[in-house]
Amino acid sequence: MGSLTGRFGLVTGVANRRSIAWAIAKALARDGARLALTYQGERLLDNVRELAAELEGPLVQPCDVTMDEQIADLYQIVGREFGGLDFLLHGTAFAPRAELSRPFLETSREGFRIALDVSVYSLIALARGAAPLMAARGGGSILTLTYLGSDRVFAGYNVMGVAKAALESSVRYLADNLGPQHIRVNAISAGPIKTLAASGISGFGGILQAYRERAPLRRNTELEEVGEAGRFLLGPESSNITGQVLMVDSGYHVMGI
Ligand code: NAP
Repeated sequence: MGSLTGRFGLVTGVANRRSIAWAIAKALARDGARLALTYQGERLLDNVRELAAELEGPLVQPCDVTMDEQIADLYQIVGREFGGLDFLLHGTAFAPRAELSRPFLETSREGFRIALDVSVYSLIALARGAAPLMAARGGGSILTLTYLGSDRVFAGYNVMGVAKAALESSVRYLADNLGPQHIRVNAISAGPIKTLAASGISGFGGILQAYRERAPLRRNTELEEVGEAGRFLLGPESSNITGQVLMVDSGYHVMGI
């Protein structure tokens, strides 16, 4: 029996084995949690089904986070199958590739809208759906994933940096709204990791190298390290922590030059 046996979680943002959401899902499942995984479209269904087969009694459900009806259907099924929810991991983000390669000044209105809708509004919409299911369990924990580009300029991160700033602010407002229901809301700001989403950022190899050379720990962040930090923030061990952005980045954020 793991310490999360009898607890139920919803995880969005698993695209493949390299996804940060999958690293956190594995740590949660190892400790006994039962999970629902979502996929955005048929394109990723096989990947997600294959990964889910490694879990105990998983639910696999479609959810494009830009579609309110899909979010409503998802929570209806999660509520029926699980009877409540203990945690939500929001691992979803997207910006059109063109916005990550041209100068920030050239950000399009539509690219801005899409990046903020998929990467930020989705947290608010998913938290709203999760809240009654968490309240039914006496409380819960919500976690999202962010990056230091919210606060500092990383060439090529562009509109995603603006989205992450809005995401971190949303964490604080949601923590305040949901705290009275004993629901905590936090973020992990991870160091750069080579994933599908990261492959869209031009110059990502250079960012990885800068961390290896300059971060206090002089190395890059491992997926499993974010997995364990996520497991901590979603589990009962972090019961007094909310509204927080936890840096899991080899310490890079403390450096000047
Ligand atoms: P990833 O494996 O590509 O995960 C991103 C996920 O978001 C994918 O599953 C993607 O599905 C999903 N997604 C995009 N649009 C969606 C939509 N409309 N509806 C539902 N899902 C959608 O990459 P990752 O690096 O693990 O990213 C996870 C989170 O960590 C993101 O918030 C990212 O910004 C953050 N993060 C990453 C790093 C890094 O260096 N990798 C560092 C700090 C923070 P599709 O593939 O179908 O689009």
